[in-house]
Amino acid sequence: MTPRTPLIAGNWKMFKTGREAVETAKALAEKVQTVSGVDVMIAPAFTALSLVSEALKETNIALGAQNLHWEMEGAFTGEISAPMLKAAGCSHVIIGHSERRQYFGETDETVNRRIKAALEHDLVPVFCIGETETEREAEETFSVLDKQIKKGLEGFSFGDLDKLVIAYEPVWAIGTGKTATTEQAQEVHGFIRSMIGDHYGDTLAKAVRILYGGSVKPDNASALMAMPDVDGALVGGASLDAETFSRIVRF
Ligand code: PEP
Repeated sequence: MTPRTPLIAGNWKMFKTGREAVETAKALAEKVQTVSGVDVMIAPAFTALSLVSEALKETNIALGAQNLHWEMEGAFTGEISAPMLKAAGCSHVIIGHSERRQYFGETDETVNRRIKAALEHDLVPVFCIGETETEREAEETFSVLDKQIKKGLEGFSFGDLDKLVIAYEPVWAIGTGKTATTEQAQEVHGFIRSMIGDHYGDTLAKAVRILYGGSVKPDNASALMAMPDVDGALVGGASLDAETFSRIVRF
């Protein structure tokens, strides 16, 4: 089996102006320049993408966006398309983050369209899924994830998904300081991988990277990363500071 290269991704959410994002990106690039065997990605706000793309030239850090619209262009005020992200220097895009689902009406159906647009334009989709606290308490975690995965990936075949990255982000762990235990994370990641295997076969199941997200910090990253089905992290708060994030990259 080809080992899966870990991916440590930073979601900068609605933080940092262009200038601030460039400063952090440059500081991070310096701190991780000797790191090998780990892929690193940062996702600043749309307004910072082109500037950060310039700053990341000749570095080992990839650039991602935090969302995209499925249409190529048109009368969609406030939206941004896959070709625009590509032109701004992005190689990755976060799709279906729980904050998009919770505050901006994102559904499994719109997530599906966005993933399709990303793949058609050669952007790596970082497909976010996760259960709420109420759903976990009601023992619905697996059924919620099952639905999110089936609907989010509806209509794709094995060959479409070789770039796919999945991020398991329990909603109750995002920005709360509560982290899933390593056992909880492994249990869910194992479930996701076996679901991918059932639907798309063993080759994709073994190749797909499944990131964990939810209050990942330098002091819990290595234990999470030691789990056999945890292939990286999607990091919010702790990715905003170059030194802190670089410690996670060096897990
Ligand atoms: C996130 O926003 O994807 C996230 C995991 O946030 P935090 O690390 O702050 O919990």
